[in-house]
Amino acid sequence: MADVKRIFEENTWAARARRTVTSVLPVDKGRKGRCRRCGACCKLPVECTFLAVDEDGLCSCKIWRLRPLNCRKYPRSCDEHLTREICGYYFEKTAKTAK
Ligand code: SF4
Repeated sequence: MADVKRIFEENTWAARARRTVTSVLPVDKGRKGRCRRCGACCKLPVECTFLAVDEDGLCSCKIWRLRPLNCRKYPRSCDEHLTREICGYYFEKTAKTAK
């Protein structure tokens, strides 16, 4: 069971598929912070063809208005937050996640 859990918490296509399915769910209320436009989540598991980088190194999406739900909501939950070392978002414990 631990191996299955790890597959979804690492940068794999399985984890990407999981985020796509769970993207219909609401964003965890414990999420704080904001996007720093680092683009790290646009490389999960491979670099997106719609990723653009400006002269200052800030990332943007070439299809921003049409981007899929899993991009709009990333990181949706703490256990789906694969870029936590660099991301501007973080999760505080809520009554739900503290259990
Ligand atoms: S990893 Fe976090 S800070 Fe970086 S682009 Fe994605 S949401 Fe924004």
